[in-house]
Amino acid sequence: MLPVAKTNPSLPAAEGTSPGAAARDEASREVTVRPVARLVRDGIPAVRRARSTPETRAFRRAFFKDATDKEWNDWRWQTRHRIKNLAQLEKMLVLTEDEREALIQGASMLPVGITPYYMSLLAREDANQPLRRTVIPVKNEFTRTIGEADDPLGEDGHSPVPGLVHRYPDRVLLLALDFCSTYCRYCTRSRVVGHGEINPKEERLQKIFEYLRNTPQVRDVLISGGDPLAIAEDKLDYILKNLRAIPHIEFVRIGTKMPAVLPQRITPQLTRVLRKYHPLWMSVHFLHPDECTPESNQACSRLADAGIPLGAQTVLLKGVNDDVAVMKELMHKLLLQRVRPYYLYQCDPISGSSHFRTSVAKGLEIIEGLRGHTTGYAVPTYVIDAPGGGGKIPLQPNYLVGRDGNDVVLRNFEGKEYRYPDPVGVDNLAPAGSLNPPLL
Ligand code: SF4
Repeated sequence: MLPVAKTNPSLPAAEGTSPGAAARDEASREVTVRPVARLVRDGIPAVRRARSTPETRAFRRAFFKDATDKEWNDWRWQTRHRIKNLAQLEKMLVLTEDEREALIQGASMLPVGITPYYMSLLAREDANQPLRRTVIPVKNEFTRTIGEADDPLGEDGHSPVPGLVHRYPDRVLLLALDFCSTYCRYCTRSRVVGHGEINPKEERLQKIFEYLRNTPQVRDVLISGGDPLAIAEDKLDYILKNLRAIPHIEFVRIGTKMPAVLPQRITPQLTRVLRKYHPLWMSVHFLHPDECTPESNQACSRLADAGIPLGAQTVLLKGVNDDVAVMKELMHKLLLQRVRPYYLYQCDPISGSSHFRTSVAKGLEIIEGLRGHTTGYAVPTYVIDAPGGGGKIPLQPNYLVGRDGNDVVLRNFEGKEYRYPDPVGVDNLAPAGSLNPPLL
């Protein structure tokens, strides 16, 4: 069993903290530690007052003591100050030999990049801390095991125009750019992400719009990447405006990890652009309850307040969230952030992912530990994205015990059996082979 990890970066003493910074920190502490109940009683939504955790504030004091609040809360400042190399990392973390060697070898397909904000959530000394495992490379990344591939979903074979994947008849994936503010070591698109080859230049985008204008069966566009919210507002506006001008495109979605890794990106200016293009949905990528901070809460609230339905995508990862208690805590926190758990993905067999991949039985165990044991809204759909381009295949524990005459025998979350009188004699709905053999 994986213990519920609490962020405890064990940071070094904040040497040289300026009096101004200390004063700012005290002021911020006064606001953030007020109990939620008191904020509500005072008529102040907690999400608007809580600004950061003690761990994030301690990290700032230790490593970015000269950054003003304005700078720290500016997504462009965060992007410019990303932590990207061994020299920076070893100042902030006590690296293991394995991590150090992986950083030196550096031949991984995926670069390293971590925003200062997300770095503040990592444990300084514990290399097994869940969030740290997801962004700091280890040597296992260089080991390719049987069944792994650089493009396990076969996306490259379904790309009629550079940066556009058209795998299903009525929907497409538009790769807006290949940049992310923070790179996840288990990324399905690590073969393209971070290489600087896919960019939001108008010439490329115009080719995509032209393809979409000439393909009337497409009704749904998912804008992803990389992280599309890393694009400036005017370019996002340009993309959304062009998509909305195509009459047969009904539905536009954005996939992003910004609310978890760079929540400062979700600004009022951004939501002003997004809300012009409803219906606009968003899939937000969250992995672990430690990502649900005051900052991410505020980011999700801003998106929800802009009328954007939010669904969470979570990848099941060994040693990160492969535990019922951890997953339940994450799902509960997401609901409180107004995010509906949507998909729980079995980790794709990308090259160098064996240290992240769990068994399928583990995924089923987690769903079984959620279904019936918590709010239905907190239970995501567990899927395997079929290697080779077969699409998402849902999996769930077997609650169907079998058939006894006209009764279907079912098992509930407590393991008790129940019967449902199945009207097969009326409309003969049960297709041959759809149920287990009769019990009697
Ligand atoms: S944010 Fe998404 S696209 Fe970017 S590295 Fe992480 S998983 Fe890959």
